[in-house]
Amino acid sequence: MLRGNFKVGRVFGIPIEINVSWILILVLVTWTVADGYFGGENFQHLSELQRWLLGAAAAFLLFGSILLHELMHSVVAVKNGLPVRKITLFILGGVAQMSEEPRSPIVEFKMAIAGPVASFIMSAVFFGIFVLLQGLSGELMQMTVGAALFLYLGLINFMILVFNMVPGFPLDGGRVLRSIIWHYTGNVTKATYITSRIGKGFAIVLIVLGLFSLFTGNPVGGIWFVFIGFFLQQAADSGYYQVLMRKGLEGHFVHEVMQPGVVTIEADTPIGTAVHDYFMRFRFNSFPVLENGKLVGMLTTHDLKTVPREEWDVGTVRNIMETEPVAHALSPNENAYGALMKIAQDGMGRLPVVEDGTVIGIVSNRDIMKLLKFKMDIG
Ligand SMILES: [Zn+2]
Repeated sequence: MLRGNFKVGRVFGIPIEINVSWILILVLVTWTVADGYFGGENFQHLSELQRWLLGAAAAFLLFGSILLHELMHSVVAVKNGLPVRKITLFILGGVAQMSEEPRSPIVEFKMAIAGPVASFIMSAVFFGIFVLLQGLSGELMQMTVGAALFLYLGLINFMILVFNMVPGFPLDGGRVLRSIIWHYTGNVTKATYITSRIGKGFAIVLIVLGLFSLFTGNPVGGIWFVFIGFFLQQAADSGYYQVLMRKGLEGHFVHEVMQPGVVTIEADTPIGTAVHDYFMRFRFNSFPVLENGKLVGMLTTHDLKTVPREEWDVGTVRNIMETEPVAHALSPNENAYGALMKIAQDGMGRLPVVEDGTVIGIVSNRDIMKLLKFKMDIG
């Protein structure tokens, strides 16, 4: 995903983030509505400014619609004990990021259907307002400005609903279908396999349609479809692998995969010493940092890059280490799949294992993948 997220607030305690790529959607929607939708003959009485304001209003309400869709997923997830880390709106819509996958088909069903239900309700409400406004105006042939705006919003929410209900994983409809197959077969791997295949098929259809419109005079829509298609295809694959990994790691724990005898750095070590005596010597990408025997952070090659060379002998490891990994430190009896997810989220490549406040080992994603590969090799 593109980098550059900024926080815009919190709803129900869930941080809401907007990716910079979302600004492109805002501009695109504002422009299409102002210039295309309200640019026709029926709305010639509108000034340029009024049309752009209507465009901005539509974009803003679209933002609210997508946010509400994601919020509904999130609220149901939280109610069922699945923590939601944040909601991110990006170029292809929105995503509620969970740290765990649902543990039962019933929970998955409720969670997946919640978003489309929200979109359905919004669509119905906006269509309702449209009918009401249009009815009051008494004119059937010419639409009022307000009615036109709500018709647009009703349509766009309906489109969001239809698109998301396509039964291919990881779309909402695919998750609904997966939960149903999972419920009746008891086999989540098989359910994910089937629905991610449908998801990939749908992705290919989108790419082909996109390429077709690209060369038949609709470049913007074409690029859009191709873009969404590629994204979906990738998501369908990674969703399936994730289930395979989760299944493969079931019943395995951190203490089985961790490397004991971990090399740690003292917090007051000069940066230059850390580079020469640790990074160059052991060639790990990250090291746990200790102070009085307690874990206080992690030092990564990335942190080193942030310091100019002439400051290597002035600063100490404490000044540049990252402290968040302390909270994410693993415990020896933690599930190996959960550990893999934590390592991926942290982006450190590895995380220390702590027992009774002491670092007793370290686990890298490679250690966990090795176990998986070994299990696959022996069937
Ligand atoms: Zn959804």
